[in-house]
Amino acid sequence: MTGSPLIAIWLALVLGQTPPAGVAPAATGTPVGHAAGTPAPASLHKVPVGLEINGKEAQGRHIVFTFDDGPNYRTTPILLDYLDAYGIKAVFYVNGRRFWGKNPIAVRNREVLGEVHRRGHYVGNHTWAHPNMATLNGAAQTKQIVRNERAIEHITGYKPVLYRPPFGLMTRFSRALLKRRGYTAVLWNLDSNDPFERSAGKSFANVLKDLFLYRQGMVLMHDTNAWSVESIPRIIRATYLWNCELAARGEPVFEFATTSEFHIDPDGKVPEPTLAMLQAARIRRNKMAQWCADLGKGVTKP
Ligand SMILES: [Zn+2]
Repeated sequence: MTGSPLIAIWLALVLGQTPPAGVAPAATGTPVGHAAGTPAPASLHKVPVGLEINGKEAQGRHIVFTFDDGPNYRTTPILLDYLDAYGIKAVFYVNGRRFWGKNPIAVRNREVLGEVHRRGHYVGNHTWAHPNMATLNGAAQTKQIVRNERAIEHITGYKPVLYRPPFGLMTRFSRALLKRRGYTAVLWNLDSNDPFERSAGKSFANVLKDLFLYRQGMVLMHDTNAWSVESIPRIIRATYLWNCELAARGEPVFEFATTSEFHIDPDGKVPEPTLAMLQAARIRRNKMAQWCADLGKGVTKP
């Protein structure tokens, strides 16, 4: 069918075959756990300010999981356990309407959002109520952003600096406002299409197809869907298997990263990687090669 082992692995995974035994890294069972109210990991704060990025600005093969429209007390905790099992940090773009107030569901969602923060993920602003901002006047757009910002700050202790526009739609007013308030707007290039194709297999295949094309970027997902959460371990395992082939060829491997790995210069160009970045990539590649070599020996933690 094909001469490339990579394509073979990828097709096998897309077609839903089970990956070889021992591929899934064992759960560490040790959540990152810092106290509520403390800032998220410093690396997540080193994001560019006042910019718009879409996932094509990394200086390496970095992938960021982003989860919108939550939290959801039924699905988000399962996702958090998956991410912990692989030691991956993600960005959650949340809506205040879902986790604020006395409504029992909001109360449960609020507890989950606290847990998202405690486990070291970044909480970003996705507006209070997920409106189409183009239908709102300036005052209403400001309220959508600022009210949500305060709700997030109340839970996490920090003012969010990452913004995901509802429906990916930016207005001229919101652009100017976000810039003034120090936000970077984060779009995406690896689209699971999970609101429309309600299946873990389709989410998985859509992300892998886009990753095949761009080799880096922001994955758009919604942690409010069971099928989206279900696709996450499959996407991670497929990427690690792909890494095995890349490492064997001495190529840079993929890494699940944070938004801080995505930069653009003020002139709009993606800067060249620094020596430190190249060294980090080399260490990653060697570690991955070791993990791949250990696959058959039952050692499964990357
Ligand atoms: Zn959304």
